Amino acid sequence: MIEQKCIEKGLRMTEQRRVIARVLSGASDHPDAEELHRRASSVDPNISLATVYRTVKLFEDSGIIERHDFRDGRSRYEEAPQEHHDHLIDVKSGRVIEFHSEEIEKLQTEIARRLGYRLVDHRLELYGVPLDEER
Ligand SMILES: [Zn+2]
Repeated sequence: MIEQKCIEKGLRMTEQRRVIARVLSGASDHPDAEELHRRASSVDPNISLATVYRTVKLFEDSGIIERHDFRDGRSRYEEAPQEHHDHLIDVKSGRVIEFHSEEIEKLQTEIARRLGYRLVDHRLELYGVPLDEER
């Protein structure tokens, strides 16, 4: 829960921040700020888009949420996951699919090692079109 993590990190939780935190915790689709604003304002119509932007920045800087850039010019957000995953983006629908591959994880570590590095982080995004729509 984002709200809980915010409290643990000592962030001052206003009612509007709580709403945004709850909306983010309840999302599984990597929403952008405008979509978050739509959802948050259905709970509290007084929440402005500027507040959403400031709040996601605060949460991101605190390491509570992650920001992604899936090449559509909009930053997307999700709660920092417990278990690492990567993303496949359907370029037709914009749908974001999460996956985890032990093979890829191992390969990345190995490639970094061969280059003389210990891997500490990575980002991987796959961009695809559905196979069954290509025919
Ligand atoms: Zn994700």
